[in-house]
Amino acid sequence: MQSMASQLAKLSYLTLKKAGRTGGTWPGEIALRLDKSYLSNNLEKLQQGFVLVTGTNGKTTTTHLLVEILRVSGMSVVTNSSGANLPNGLASAFIEAESQKRNPDIGVFEIDENYLPSILNLVTPRIVVITNIFRDQLDRFGEIETIKNKWIKSLSGKGVQLVLNSDDPAVAAIGLLGDLDSYYFGIDFKHASNFANLKSPKDSGFCLRCGEKLTFKIIFYSHLGDWSCQNCGLTRPKPTEMGGNYSLQLPGNYNQYNVAGSILASTLLGIERQISLTVSESFVGVFGRGETIDFEGGKFELHLAKNPTGFTQSLSEVHDAVSPVIVLLLNDKIADGQDISWIWDIGLEEIIIHPQHLIIGGSRANDLALRLFYAGIETERLHVYENFHHALQTASQLSNGEKVPIVATYTAMLKARKILLGKSLL
Ligand SMILES: [Zn+2]
Repeated sequence: MQSMASQLAKLSYLTLKKAGRTGGTWPGEIALRLDKSYLSNNLEKLQQGFVLVTGTNGKTTTTHLLVEILRVSGMSVVTNSSGANLPNGLASAFIEAESQKRNPDIGVFEIDENYLPSILNLVTPRIVVITNIFRDQLDRFGEIETIKNKWIKSLSGKGVQLVLNSDDPAVAAIGLLGDLDSYYFGIDFKHASNFANLKSPKDSGFCLRCGEKLTFKIIFYSHLGDWSCQNCGLTRPKPTEMGGNYSLQLPGNYNQYNVAGSILASTLLGIERQISLTVSESFVGVFGRGETIDFEGGKFELHLAKNPTGFTQSLSEVHDAVSPVIVLLLNDKIADGQDISWIWDIGLEEIIIHPQHLIIGGSRANDLALRLFYAGIETERLHVYENFHHALQTASQLSNGEKVPIVATYTAMLKARKILLGKSLL
């Protein structure tokens, strides 16, 4: 017999689906309001357990890729594919699976960093993957050290297998200092020359054991690299799964990390590495993360950027683009982050932006244009558009048939994507 909570939640899912609105959090919200244990009960029912993927950047791609690997291997997976990564989003994923009469045997969920400890208090995942920790999260919930301590406390004694980024000192410290069952992924330094070796903001510059400044032999981007503490000897652990040279459809070096993390997690779940590798190589990504869309004779490639590191990284990835035009979109809605002062932390001074024309749009286009001006971009190269449709049309006309990169914040990207797909004329 199904519970009342699940029946009502399913009803709301089907109603929303009829209205063309799937992937929302409402069905899960209803289920959790009627039955607080709806989520934990369903998670515990999964025969093969579940994986949580968390971190600042890369969790959506890592989650989607891991799901793809498991599905190709014949498993029935429940996942919050819409990226709704709070408990109501996870609950919605179960309602969706129930409504589709699927009986999943394993779960893979991306989870907001802020909610990891509270979820771990309720249930025990089989694996937790931590991609990285960047500074943009800090004003929301304290310093990196506090997060690390909180996470170690919530993971201790649970028997969870941890899949950690060895190149991120804050993430690796969780395994090294927490005495937890840890497995590491990172970049193989043999392939260091494939990387831009950027010097964008370094967040985790200090040793989490003794507080001394860390020494880096190589930095791949931001604070990710080959680190060690000269004072107490804490050192980057040697990764067992090493990226850097995967041949991928996914653009960008940061995806080498996402793939390494997904392969390592699948290996721990008993999937043959060769299968994971093959799936990874053909994986084309999640919407807004390297997706290519044709529009009015032009071709666009979407890059989501939600913080200075993401923006810097996206710009450095499109650095080699031959397009004479690039589109940069900045909104300041809640999902983008309303405080946009972070644009001053984008490592613009270290990146040469080649395209002749920079099309700037979004509700804070003028702020972004000002930032670019101060980075030394000549005003005649900057074109500010209030109207997204006009911005994209102009970019298409200026593109000479080359693929135009769009770097955008979350809601700006959703809007641009709608226009490109012909779903909106606004
Ligand atoms: Zn130290």
